[in-house]
Amino acid sequence: MNWWFGTALWMRVLGALALGVVFALVLAQVMGQEAAAALIESFVRPVGELFFNLIRMLIIPLILTTLVAGVVSLGDPKKLGSIGGKAVALYLATTFFAVWIGIGFGLAFQPGAGVNLGGAEPIPVDTDAPGIIERLIAIVPTNPVAAMADTDVLAVIFFAILLGIGIIMAGRAGKPVGDLFSSAADVVLKITHIVMEVAPFGVFALVAYTVSTQGVEALASVAVLIVTVYLALLAHAVIVYGGFIRFVLNLPVLSFARGIIDAQAVAYSTASSAGTLPVTIANVTDNLGVKRSVAGSVLPLGATINMDGTGIYLGILALFTAQAFGYDLTFTQYALIAVTAALASIGAAGIPSAGLFLLAIVLGTFDVPPEQIAIIVGFILPVDRIMDMARTALNVTGDSMVATAVAKWEGELDEDRFRAPADKPYDAPEPAPEVADADRD
Ligand code: ASP
Repeated sequence: MNWWFGTALWMRVLGALALGVVFALVLAQVMGQEAAAALIESFVRPVGELFFNLIRMLIIPLILTTLVAGVVSLGDPKKLGSIGGKAVALYLATTFFAVWIGIGFGLAFQPGAGVNLGGAEPIPVDTDAPGIIERLIAIVPTNPVAAMADTDVLAVIFFAILLGIGIIMAGRAGKPVGDLFSSAADVVLKITHIVMEVAPFGVFALVAYTVSTQGVEALASVAVLIVTVYLALLAHAVIVYGGFIRFVLNLPVLSFARGIIDAQAVAYSTASSAGTLPVTIANVTDNLGVKRSVAGSVLPLGATINMDGTGIYLGILALFTAQAFGYDLTFTQYALIAVTAALASIGAAGIPSAGLFLLAIVLGTFDVPPEQIAIIVGFILPVDRIMDMARTALNVTGDSMVATAVAKWEGELDEDRFRAPADKPYDAPEPAPEVADADRD
């Protein structure tokens, strides 16, 4: 047992991910594809679902407690405006690069050229863009408890920030409530650490399940698309994120990458950046040294509005569609694709396949009729997951990068922690203060 807990969690999680792939492939060889898929569905998948439920259970408690505690620790509501402004500006800037990288890779690799859409089962999708005004209004919850019950992240962020500001403004009278939230944040983070110990098993099960459900022939028919998407995502991670961390923030890229491996692996196996949020918050605070005030506000916001992987994907899929159906696009149309892909990525929910169902908004820029959109969505959906996993991993990487940048600029980054070697299990957070016997009664 000692070697298990003595090995850093990120190594165990990565090992589990690789093992999940190998397990599903070997089982399919030994028992045949269908029998293996049935066995994995009955006995392995439940472990993955259990883990996914465990982390989703923590999303709202973690956002509420870390954000309120973070705002209170800032002590000055004005600083929050500066954090939010910088985060939103960086989120938009990275998304801008993302959509153009997507378009560039789509042009260079031509993934839709000569593709045979004949066997696709058309899936009609809604072509209306969600109303921006309604979405903005909905950020203010009429009932914060209902917003929490619905996991309405933006509404919970809004309420938590106001609560934190109220606590600061109440001065001495607010202090007990502030202390309560700070203590609750410690407790919920502890629970997150417990749940993360289950991650290797959950990641193994989820990855094995996904591999067992993806037909090799289906994947082979879109191999060029899959390779294009993976390379574009990698290029964005290395050039935009890596370059920014190294040359703008002057921080070691490897420490960053190693610090968020758990979050990336969980994002990869669940294909949900919203679901991964508790792990992202824990990684970024524990391993990258980002203070709660920044992690608690910037990361939930990012999990809702910052999806560079989705932006890249939508750019590539738009070109895929144009190439498959033979549309000739003008530069203005490329620019419109970039703008709508960026907006759709901002509006996408952090759940599996969310991005694909927003494709219609992007295809509207060159008047693709609904029947053709249905064919494309029907063609991609069976193979979407494998690309969804990778774009979700990039989405959480982008959130973590922006949180690091904002923390550095706001003086809320513990650089020693960021640079500390991560090849040992993460430090247990400071032990709870001993309660003297006399204080107990
Ligand atoms: N699954 C992605 C996420 O959760 C969204 C998408 O479908 O692109 O970040």
